[in-house]
Amino acid sequence: MTPIPPGATIGILGGGQLGRMTALAAARLGYRCHVYEPDELAPAADVCARHTAAAWDDAAALDGFAAAVDVITLEFENVPVAAVERLAASRPMRPSAAVLAVAQDRIAEKTFANRLGIATAAWHAVHDADELAAACAALGGRCVVKTTRWGYDGKGQALVPTPEAAATVWARLGAGGVRIAEAVVPFVAELSVIVARTPDGRTATFPPTLNEHEHHILRRSRAPAPLADDLADRAAAIARTLAVALGVEGLLAVEMFLTADDTLLVNELAPRPHNSGHWTIDACPVSQFEQLVRAICGLPLGDPTPFAAAEMTNLLGSEAEDWPRLLAEPGLRLHLYGKREARPGRKMGHVTRLRPFMR
Ligand code: AMP
Repeated sequence: MTPIPPGATIGILGGGQLGRMTALAAARLGYRCHVYEPDELAPAADVCARHTAAAWDDAAALDGFAAAVDVITLEFENVPVAAVERLAASRPMRPSAAVLAVAQDRIAEKTFANRLGIATAAWHAVHDADELAAACAALGGRCVVKTTRWGYDGKGQALVPTPEAAATVWARLGAGGVRIAEAVVPFVAELSVIVARTPDGRTATFPPTLNEHEHHILRRSRAPAPLADDLADRAAAIARTLAVALGVEGLLAVEMFLTADDTLLVNELAPRPHNSGHWTIDACPVSQFEQLVRAICGLPLGDPTPFAAAEMTNLLGSEAEDWPRLLAEPGLRLHLYGKREARPGRKMGHVTRLRPFMR
């Protein structure tokens, strides 16, 4: 394929911190970025040459945006597929609307993985409280129920402790159509793997990351995850298989559970940069953000092998106000997202601490 060379303009759908860090990486390689994000005060807009602040269904704004860019990617997988299809009619859209359609829907995601022989938690689609109660009984007497779409950071999900509790939990979740009931996985660790794939099929995979959540929000990632080589290889192979089968152009982040018997169960797919890959900015020759730019522009992919071990901690809400103390810590790498309002639990920045590899 003919590469999209430095100097070209990359369109980014979504203006959060992932878009911001993508734009920073793109700028380093000489690209300009144009972000499409309804919110006027988006973190990415501060570092992009242009910002289209319009709704996802604003056809004229979408067309104007497409005309102004050379390739389009996204940092937010809940961009409406209709908008992505419209953009894809005139510009390379990486990842494609088809990839997005799978990644936006937990049932589509799990169906896709299971068809490839990739294990997930056992699951059932449920449409009402009775079906939830039956699924809960079939899944071992308790389950997690989740919205199939628009869920992130644990939003829209609940534990169903017994089949008898299904009616109460269903009522509490409110209207919302089909949901997914999943077996509660007794995981010993949560892992993620980020793989990049170019339109001509080249791939590069970052090593697995070990993730700790608090209240369903990622708190800390450690990389490389301390896993036996064969387990790390299996996790990487799962991510690569999914990226290739989906035909991802760009990045695919795959979240997995690890159980005590070394089984890996895929939990979620995100065809974009991922919070658990922020450590790559400071510990790898190429960051996940630069790798995304390279992948969508058809450039050589960078070396994803870390040169140091890394621990990334998210700064949530008011924690980012601690920046003077953090900046004073030798070796610490501070990243702030420039968000105006520090709501509790909101991702305001992150810090990365590096540790040399012991050889
Ligand atoms: P998710 O929105 O699917 O990424 O879920 C958020 C977090 O909830 C995960 O990172 C897990 O810590 C927990 N979780 C989600 N699904 C399950 C499950 N089936 N079994 C156990 N824990 C889960």
